[in-house]
Amino acid sequence: MNKLATLGLLGVLILSSCQESTKEAALSNIAKKEAVIVHEEYTKPEPTKPEGTEFYEPKVPVVGSALNGGVPSDAIVLFDGSSLEGWMHVQDSTAAKWHLNEDGSMTVADKTGNIRTKEEFGDIQLHIEWKSPIPVQREGQNRGNSGVFLNGIYEVQVLDNNNNDTYVNGQVGAIYKQGPPLAMASSPTGEWNVYDIIYHAPEFNSEGDKIKSGTLTVFHNGVVIQDHTEIKGTTPYIGWPKNPAHGKGPLMLQDHGDDSGVSYRNIWVREL
Ligand code: MG
Repeated sequence: MNKLATLGLLGVLILSSCQESTKEAALSNIAKKEAVIVHEEYTKPEPTKPEGTEFYEPKVPVVGSALNGGVPSDAIVLFDGSSLEGWMHVQDSTAAKWHLNEDGSMTVADKTGNIRTKEEFGDIQLHIEWKSPIPVQREGQNRGNSGVFLNGIYEVQVLDNNNNDTYVNGQVGAIYKQGPPLAMASSPTGEWNVYDIIYHAPEFNSEGDKIKSGTLTVFHNGVVIQDHTEIKGTTPYIGWPKNPAHGKGPLMLQDHGDDSGVSYRNIWVREL
């Protein structure tokens, strides 16, 4: 390569490097611009007295406490141990055949199928308690497997994971096959666990395309294990998540079909 050609190539390289850095600067400016959040109410003249930043309306609703096994006064009780009246089988809409126990819980009746609430919900706060049976049986995904399905299609895994390894995105508290939990917070096998879940449904446009993902926040025995986790779609055993457009849906509980022996009790929701 002669001197002239070398200088030419150098020029092109310098030019393209300058263009790159200009591009990077522009992108970083866009990022900076996007990071600016303007709260409209604070653009007015700033108050000079404390009363200027205090407001009294609308009033905040008073809700009874959920502490010590209580149910908030505005909650919809889905199961209190007295009957399975609010539930039905998903497959044929017949009355739920799961076992109603004397201690106020219900247990999966093997191979009768998943059950769902008759009522349907959108965004909810859900409280649900579950336990896996003793003595333990089998291993991996076949030990105390059930599941809590928000909107009837998004599963938060229920599994006896005590001394029982499995794939992490299918372990207890996972958004099944999508999001492993942040921690494993299970009670000893045979003892009750509590899930407190905040579910925000995805949003769809009029063409049926998803325009905003749903989210799940899950506390397992008081420990946060899903922190506003994006729901990427449905939670199938095989294949990628799908995003069918939907409105409200039921709460569904899984019969895994392998005599899981999982029990549930104290189930209530608050609509958000
Ligand atoms: Mg399951």
